[in-house]
Amino acid sequence: MSDCLFCKIIAGDIPSAKVYEDELVLAFRDIAPQAPTHILVIPKAHIASVADISGDSSAVVAHIFEIIPQIARAEGLDSGYRVVSNCGEDAGQTVHHLHFHILGGQKLALQMA
Ligand code: AMP
Ligand code: ZN
Repeated sequence: MSDCLFCKIIAGDIPSAKVYEDELVLAFRDIAPQAPTHILVIPKAHIASVADISGDSSAVVAHIFEIIPQIARAEGLDSGYRVVSNCGEDAGQTVHHLHFHILGGQKLALQMA
């Protein structure tokens, strides 16, 4: 998608602080971290949000959830972390390319809404 910020990061047109990359997935540091460690994990294929995951695209989501604990271990998040995906307007999704936030490095507030 030519007008998608995260597709531009994948293409290398916009720089990012990469922490992991393979043929299916890219992970990079959030530009406005909300915790000492704040990483975004995204599929290289454009999927708009959790609402757009289907049988055709769920394999990459499974792959992302294999990679997340590897990243967490590499980042030293031994006492825990949170994985969040904002989906749609009510959740405050601002970038419409599926992404999973990894948040950690401190005790996180138990805020659900
Ligand atoms: P969300 O609000 O769940 O859609 O999350 C989008 C996230 O992308 C926010 O946490 C932003 O800080 C982050 N973000 C926006 N632009 C960039 C960028 N160029 N590099 C890294 N993270 C970004
Ligand atoms: Zn995209």
